[in-house]
Amino acid sequence: MGKLNSKIPDGPLAQKWTKYKASVKLVNPANKKKLEVIVVGTGLSGAGAASALGELGYSVKNFCYQDSPRRAHSVAAQGGINAAKNYQNDGDSTYRLFYDMIKGGDYRAREANVYRAAEVSNQVIDHFTALGVPFARDYGGTLDTRSFGGVQVSRTFYAKGQTGQQCLLGCYSSLNRQIKKGNVKMFPRREMLDLVVIDGKARGIITRNLITGEIERHGAHAVVLATGGYGTIYYMSTLAVNSNAFEMTEGYGSRRQKEIRVRQMIFPRRSEIIFLKEDIRHSEILFRVMSPQGLSRSAVMQAMV
Ligand SMILES: Cc1cc2nc3c(=O)[nH]c(=O)nc-3n(C[C@H](O)[C@H](O)[C@H](O)COP(=O)(O)OP(=O)(O)OC[C@H]3O[C@@H](n4cnc5c(N)ncnc54)[C@H](O)[C@@H]3O)c2cc1C
Repeated sequence: MGKLNSKIPDGPLAQKWTKYKASVKLVNPANKKKLEVIVVGTGLSGAGAASALGELGYSVKNFCYQDSPRRAHSVAAQGGINAAKNYQNDGDSTYRLFYDMIKGGDYRAREANVYRAAEVSNQVIDHFTALGVPFARDYGGTLDTRSFGGVQVSRTFYAKGQTGQQCLLGCYSSLNRQIKKGNVKMFPRREMLDLVVIDGKARGIITRNLITGEIERHGAHAVVLATGGYGTIYYMSTLAVNSNAFEMTEGYGSRRQKEIRVRQMIFPRRSEIIFLKEDIRHSEILFRVMSPQGLSRSAVMQAMV
C-alpha cells in the first residue's frame, strides 16, 4: 500500500502554511501558460481548483464523468460552511474554529491543514459571495449564520438548504469564464481509469470516453485528483452511488478503498456494520466496525448511546 505524504511544511503550527506560501518559489507569469495541469473532478474542489489555476494563467484540462460539470455531487450539500468571522460577536476566532474542527475530527486530523482551513475560512465566504452565491442574510442585509454541530458559536453561513448547489453554480460560472477564455479545456463524459506516474511524479491520466468508448491518454506537468468520496461502499448514505474515488486509490498506489465521508450514522450491510461519524470528515479515516455476530442496527445504536 502506498504511503500518503501530505508534505506539511516545518515551523510553528499557526505559521506552517503561511510561511510556506510566503517563501515557496514562484512561477514566472510568462512560463505559466506552458505548464499543463490536469484536474479530475468538477465538484466544489475540482471546479474551484480548475478555475483558480486557469485564472492564474496555467493551461488546465478538467475532467468529469457527468455530462456537465455542474452535476457533481457537491450539488447535494445542504447545511452550510463554517467560518470564523465572528459576526455575532459571540467570541469566535480562528483558533476556536481550529479547535472545534480538531475535536470534531476525534483528534485524528492533520493539525496544520486544519489550522489552514480555519485561517482561510473567512476568505472562502467572501470568495463565494463575490462569485454571486446568495448566502442567507438577516434583516439588516448582513450575512446570516446558524449554529451547527453543538458548538457554542453561530458560524455557519448557508444558502437555505441548498448551500452546495449555490456554491457549485458559483464555481461553475467561474469555470465557464475560464473555459471561454481558453485557459481551461473541459472534458465531460470521461472516466479516469488510471494515473500515469513517471519517476514518482503524476504526469497524466488514462480515461475512457463514455460516448465513444475509446480509451484516451492525457499528459500534463501535474495532476490534481478532486474526485469526491467513494459512495458505493456505504450502501445507505447521503452520497450518490456513482460518486467514486477509485482513481484516488490509484493515486495512493493502492486499490483498496479508503475514503472518508460524512454523517453520523450507522450503516448496516450484511453482517457488517460501517460506522461513520460526521466529525471524521477531515481525517480521511473510515471506521469499519465488524460485527461477527451480525448485530442488529438497533443493538449497535443502543450500544453507542
Ligand atoms: C447530502 C449532503 C449534505 C452535505 N452537507 C454539507 C454541509 O452542510 N457542509 C459541508 O461542508 N459539506 C457538506 N457535504 C459534503 C460536501 O458536499 C462534499 O464533501 C463536497 O461537496 C465534495 O466535493 P468534491 O469536489 O470533493 O466532490 P464531488 O462534488 O463529488 O465531485 C467529484 C467529481 O469527480 C468526478 N469524478 C469522480 N470519479 C471520476 C472518474 N473516475 N473520472 C472522471 N471524473 C471523476 C465527478 O465527475 C465529479 O465531477 C454534504 C454532502 C452531502 C452528500
